[in-house]
Amino acid sequence: MNQESLFDAIEQPAENPDQVHSSEVDLDAVRRVAIECRKCRLAEMRKHVVFGEGNPKAGLFVIGEAPGAEEDNQGRPFVGRSGQLLDKILLAIGFERRDVYIGNIIKCRPPENRNPLTDEIDCCKPWLMEQLGIIQPRILLLLGRVAANTILENNLSMGAMRGRIIRWKDFDCVVTYHPAALLRNPNWKRLCWEDVQMLRAHYDKVCPGDA
Ligand code: SF4
Repeated sequence: MNQESLFDAIEQPAENPDQVHSSEVDLDAVRRVAIECRKCRLAEMRKHVVFGEGNPKAGLFVIGEAPGAEEDNQGRPFVGRSGQLLDKILLAIGFERRDVYIGNIIKCRPPENRNPLTDEIDCCKPWLMEQLGIIQPRILLLLGRVAANTILENNLSMGAMRGRIIRWKDFDCVVTYHPAALLRNPNWKRLCWEDVQMLRAHYDKVCPGDA
């Protein structure tokens, strides 16, 4: 596949309403509390808490860093330019948005899109842990160094984390570049493509018969 056609492939979905019902109810209960959260200073500046969205029984949970301006406006994760690229990346390996769950480490937008501070991450991470506990995905796709360092509790570079499956708690983690970084540096798309192909092959092994 050449550079131009990277992330331009496509494919399908399917989910069982009976299986998702309980998780959907539990997630909605957590979401209703989270959208009122004022545990850190970011509550003062946000328009919306961006809780996350997707399949409540997803085998794959995609985790980014924090909402940007468009996400803050809409209250939905990955809906700006980065989100459009994420959609293409997922489609290129056969997932639609509704197949997976998408969220961020931090639920409210940091001012000027700065990196979240340690105390903000500490305040917000419990929401993500609740989501992980309810959804129980098999695989986490960690987008960018902030998300990966936070989840994996390390300080490693992208180069040291990407290109392999990393076990963390009950999850198999794949680290790759954040779509915003790919928009700034398209040369990294090739590495991202390798990462997500590896992810897809692993998904087919641990979640056979799913999307
Ligand atoms: S960033 Fe997280 S902890 Fe801080 S106010 Fe928003 S939801 Fe609460």
